[in-house]
Amino acid sequence: MGRIFLDHIGGTRLFSCATCDTILTNRSELISTRFTGATGRAFLFNKVVNLNYSEVQDRVMLTGRHMVRDVSCKNCDAKLGWIYEFATEENQRYKEGRVILERALVTESDGMEEHMGEENK
Ligand SMILES: [Zn+2]
Repeated sequence: MGRIFLDHIGGTRLFSCATCDTILTNRSELISTRFTGATGRAFLFNKVVNLNYSEVQDRVMLTGRHMVRDVSCKNCDAKLGWIYEFATEENQRYKEGRVILERALVTESDGMEEHMGEENK
């Protein structure tokens, strides 16, 4: 079985795969929490690591037509959201190359030293 090499991203307030806890990104990469995905609330990030990408798809959204790729976890292949490749509307171009992660599909946690799977908030 081949080993999967994962990237590491530093910082506090980490976002990781809800299925396998692979770290995906952190709070400093967060652009907006005001997006909606298939499961509800979704976040827009500047940079996300440890993803697999689908083929480019042409998708019409509330904000216009976009070329997107679905993204899934590199480690466990759970679906996580999508990445914007191209936006046809001028005022939506800031999303190009940015990644949507659905809130219900990721876990947010403090720090990177230890992750015990328990939250005390
Ligand atoms: Zn995973």
